[in-house]
Amino acid sequence: MTQASASDVAIAWWPARSNALRMSTSAGSLLGCKCTLCRERTAAGKVPACVEICPVETLFYGKRSDLLAYAHELICRHPERYVDHVYGEHEVGGTSWLYLSDRPFTELGLPTLPMGSPAVRSETIQHGIFKGFAAPLLLCGMLAALNKVTQRSQPSP
Ligand code: SF4
Repeated sequence: MTQASASDVAIAWWPARSNALRMSTSAGSLLGCKCTLCRERTAAGKVPACVEICPVETLFYGKRSDLLAYAHELICRHPERYVDHVYGEHEVGGTSWLYLSDRPFTELGLPTLPMGSPAVRSETIQHGIFKGFAAPLLLCGMLAALNKVTQRSQPSP
């Protein structure tokens, strides 16, 4: 991890997987493209290209836990410089990019996101529905009962 400079306002984190979307412009229109975490570079032991070329060293690459610890340390040391929130720490269960800011993140155009992971929520719902195969068994029972009722109501030949 690179040393912080006085003007640091952002921390970035690239783990093995990333859902981070980066924006770039092409022929005047805004494009969203998926960050690949510079897989080839990091596999070769290099830091991601954007971290390497950042002229003011506001981007950092490393283990998420290290970067979070560092982010919270910066907030504690400089409460006048940063809002007390690491964007991406809990948003949608934790994102691949982490941000520090001197102003509310909404002012930077970052959306207000739910704090839990949607994947965990849907998994919990599915496990609740299919717990002990109760729902599929109930459905089978209802279909069998419906079948019996409809067979009984048909006139015999
Ligand atoms: S330079 Fe690499 S790590 Fe940085 S945003 Fe682009 S793909 Fe992601």
